[in-house]
Amino acid sequence: PFDVLVVGGGPAGAAAAIYAARKGIRTGVAAERFGGQVLDTMAIENFISVKETEGPKLAAALEQHVREYEVDIMNLQRATALVPAGDDGLVEIKLENGASLKSRSVILSTGARWRQMNVPGEDQYRNKGVAYCPHCDGPLFKGKHVAVIGGGNSGVEAAIDLAGLVTHVTLLEFDDKLRADEVLQKKLRSLGNVTIITSALTQEVLGDGQKVTGLVYQDRVGGDSHRVELEGIFVQIGLLPNTEWLKDTVALSPRGEILIDDRGQTSVPGVFAAGDCTTVPYKQIVIAMGAGSTAALSAFDHLIRTSVP
Ligand code: FAD
Repeated sequence: PFDVLVVGGGPAGAAAAIYAARKGIRTGVAAERFGGQVLDTMAIENFISVKETEGPKLAAALEQHVREYEVDIMNLQRATALVPAGDDGLVEIKLENGASLKSRSVILSTGARWRQMNVPGEDQYRNKGVAYCPHCDGPLFKGKHVAVIGGGNSGVEAAIDLAGLVTHVTLLEFDDKLRADEVLQKKLRSLGNVTIITSALTQEVLGDGQKVTGLVYQDRVGGDSHRVELEGIFVQIGLLPNTEWLKDTVALSPRGEILIDDRGQTSVPGVFAAGDCTTVPYKQIVIAMGAGSTAALSAFDHLIRTSVP
């Protein structure tokens, strides 16, 4: 069995694996896709101390760093169930391929995925004007016209944030009213360069083959379609944690995030969690890495208290 088994190979999982391996204990990483969301990212400008990098480059560097240590990397492995430890003190992780792995401690770092609009053009122009993270990509749209899709808290926060950076923000909400907290709505309405459109169903992302040039939405009341010329579209209709497989065993928040304390401990003994799959506020690379390190140190602490070497 492993001493520490990390499930998920994004920034959180990579950091956890390195911190665990540096303690000289048996460490493994099982990941569906090593690199995680970073693989889908183009420019990264907020990875502190690295002025500018690209997602695939950072993902390769993550893997290279983990491989510096004796870590058993099991890529393309999807976990489907977690069985809490019994008398033998071993937590079991079942894999989609039928195999199962056992470990004295487990770190869950399965990340999250942005909910997509699923309209024509969205995939084609991803990273070419279609964006999901205002903290990451907002500054790329300085002086431009952008749309925010979604009038919940994250959409309205994004619109307020972006209004300070870009020329104009159009916020589109499907419902007939915004769902964000009243204070946020008030702040949004006070801004001079924001247009709010409710009852709007986004139908298509328009582009010139290279980048986004606009979008089409349908007015759900009148039924007619409208075109907005713009350069960027921030989709803010939800971040879904990859935790469906844990819902019967590990305590989750109403949004499906793994509940952790400030040491990364979950509701299951010997099981820790880190990164975008947890209740940690703010989902960012440096935050996920810090959380992964915390979880690994907590797992080590757990091991020296519970098992005879
Ligand atoms: P993830 O990166 O999501 O990694 C999760 C890992 O778990 C993956 O290896 C995945 O394959 C694996 N996994 C999932 N389910 C299972 C399962 N059942 N079994 C086994 N493995 C599983 N952040 C920034 O700080 N700066 C940026 O510029 C930036 N830009 C972004 C741009 C885009 C387009 C996106 C999508 C995100 C961006 N982010 C950015 C956010 C950042 O990528 C995430 O916060 C970060 O990757 C979270 O790391 P993580 O390790 O928690 O999860």
